[in-house]
Amino acid sequence: MNIIKSKHNCLIKIILSVLSCAFLLCSCSFRFNINDSDSKSENDLVVHYLDVGQGDSIFIELPSSETMLIDAGVSGLGEGIVNYINDCGYSKIDYLVATHPHADHIGSMAYVVENMHIGEIYMPKVSTTTRTYEKLLTAISDKGLKIKSAHSGMSIADESDFSIDVLGPVTIDEDSLNNCSVLLKITHKNNKFLFIGDAEKQELGTVNADLSADVLKVGHHGSRTSTTEDLLERVDPSIAVISLGKDNDYGHPHKSTINLLNKFNVATYRTDEDGTIIMSSDGNNIATLTGVKSIEREE
Ligand SMILES: [Zn+2]
Repeated sequence: MNIIKSKHNCLIKIILSVLSCAFLLCSCSFRFNINDSDSKSENDLVVHYLDVGQGDSIFIELPSSETMLIDAGVSGLGEGIVNYINDCGYSKIDYLVATHPHADHIGSMAYVVENMHIGEIYMPKVSTTTRTYEKLLTAISDKGLKIKSAHSGMSIADESDFSIDVLGPVTIDEDSLNNCSVLLKITHKNNKFLFIGDAEKQELGTVNADLSADVLKVGHHGSRTSTTEDLLERVDPSIAVISLGKDNDYGHPHKSTINLLNKFNVATYRTDEDGTIIMSSDGNNIATLTGVKSIEREE
C-alpha cells in the first residue's frame, strides 16, 4: 500500500482565501487533486475524520456513492456536521451508526436525524437514561425509523468492491457503555479501515474476528485503556487517527498510547493538531489530507 500525504500548505491557504465557494467544497476538490484526478472516481472510498473537538464523528463516502456517518460528536455540532456533508454533495446518510450512547458520540445525532434523509440506523443493544439519548430515540421514532441492533458477525454491506462488517460488540457489558462500542471494519479491495469507538481492552479482548487494518481509528480518544501492545499487534496498522479536543479534561491522548504507536511505527494523525483529516482510498493507495476545516460548535 502506498501512503500519500498532503498538508495544507501556504499555496493552498492562498488559493482558499481567494475562492468564494465554501471552504469545505474546496477541501473536497483538493482531496481529488491529491489523487491526480479531476473528479472523485466512482470507485473511491473517502473517510472524513471530522474535527469535532473532544468526541468522534466520521463521515464516509462509499464507492457505491452511498454514505455512512459514525457518531456525531457532542451537542451543538449538528448544523456544522450536516453542512459539511451537504457541501460534499450529499443529503442522505445511508448508514448511521451510534457506536455507543455517550454524549461525545451521540450529542448531535438527533439534529442529524431531524435534518437529513436517513437510511439504516445501527446502535448497540444497550440503553441509558440521559436526555441526549432520549432525544435521539425521539428523533428516530418521530421519523418512523427503526434501530438495528449492531453485534459481531453482522454485515452492513457486502458489495463486489467493498464491505462493511460489524466485529463487535460480542457481548453487552451493562456496566460499561464504552465496552458496548460498535466495532466496524470497512474493506475496500486491498485497504482496510477499522473503527472501534471507545472500546477498551476488555471489549477488544473478546473479539475473535480478524482485526487487521491499514488505518485504525484509535479507541477512546487515545486513552491508555484502549490502545495496548496486544491490540496493535493484532491490527498492525500503518496509519492511526486519534479524534480528540485540544487541552481536554482527560489528558488524552495518553503518553503511553503515543509511545506505543511510535514503537509500532504507525503514522499518527490527531484531529486536535491536524484538524479534519480526509483519507481517500482507490483500493490500493491511501491519500491523506490534513488541515481541513474543523466543525464549529454553536454556543
Ligand atoms: Zn468518547
